[in-house]
Amino acid sequence: MADHPRFGPAGVPPSFRFMKATLTEVPRLLQEEGLDAFEYEAVRWGKKPQIKKEDAEELALAAEKNDVWLSMHGSYFINFCGEKQILEASKQRLIACAIAAKWMNARVVVFHPGFYGQKSHKQAFDICLKALRETVDAIQSLGINDVKIGPETMGRLYQLGSLDEIMKLCEMVEQTQLVIDWSHLHARDQGRFTKVDDFRKIVETIEIRLGAEVAENMHCHFARIEFASKGERRHHTMDETRYGPEFEMLAKVISEFKLKPVIISESPILDIDAARMRDIVQKEWSKS
Ligand SMILES: [Zn+2]
Repeated sequence: MADHPRFGPAGVPPSFRFMKATLTEVPRLLQEEGLDAFEYEAVRWGKKPQIKKEDAEELALAAEKNDVWLSMHGSYFINFCGEKQILEASKQRLIACAIAAKWMNARVVVFHPGFYGQKSHKQAFDICLKALRETVDAIQSLGINDVKIGPETMGRLYQLGSLDEIMKLCEMVEQTQLVIDWSHLHARDQGRFTKVDDFRKIVETIEIRLGAEVAENMHCHFARIEFASKGERRHHTMDETRYGPEFEMLAKVISEFKLKPVIISESPILDIDAARMRDIVQKEWSKS
C-alpha cells in the first residue's frame, strides 16, 4: 500500500537515454527529479524474461535505496481471448513477466487482456477470465505470491478492457491489481471526462464494487490523449491542451478521497509530465 500518491514514467525517459544512463542508475535519476515510481517496459517480451536475473536484482536494490516503487508493463503480445495456441503462448509471456517482476521486486505486472475478435463480448470475457485464472495459478505454483497481475482499462473498442470488464476480472481472480488508464477510458468513451464529477463517479463505482482499499490503491496511467471513432489514437504532452482529459480534475478527486495511487505518466515527455502531475496533486492536497 502506497503511503502517498506516487509518480513516475512509463519506461526510461528520453533524457536519461541521451545521457546513456544504465538501468541501475534510473531510480537515482528519478529521485533527483523528485519522482518515486518507475514502470519497467517489458512490452516486447516473448516467452522468456529478457532481462538477466542479476540486472533485475540490481534494479530492485537501486529502487529500494532511492524509494522508487517498481511496476512492470507486461508484453503487448498477449491475447487472453484468442484460440488455444494463442492462449497458451499468451500465458507463457505473462508468466515470464511475473518471474522477472519478482526478481526486480515490482509490485504489479500490468497487461492488456486481449481482443474480442469475432466473439461476443461475453464469450471473449469468459475465455479471458479462465486464462487469467490459470495464469495466476501457474504463477502461484512457482511461489510468486507478492507480484500482482494488473489487467488495464483499454482505449479501443475492439479491445477487451471496459471499466466494467476490468473490475469484474479483479473481483473474480485473486492476486490481481486494478489498473485504471484514465486516458484509455476517455478515448474509449469518446471523451467521457469533462468535469470533476466524471472522475469522482469512477472512484465511487470502484469503492462500491471492489472496496475503498482497492480504490485508494489503484495503479494508474495518465496522459492527454487523441481519439477517433474507434478510440485511442495517440498520447500527448500536458502542454497540448486541445486534448483531454484534464489532470487537474483527477487531482481534485485524488485529494478529496485521499487516494494513494501510483500514477505512471505515458506522456511523450515521460518524467517531465510525471513531475507536473505530482505538483498538481500536491497543490490540490495542500488546499484540502
Ligand atoms: Zn498499457
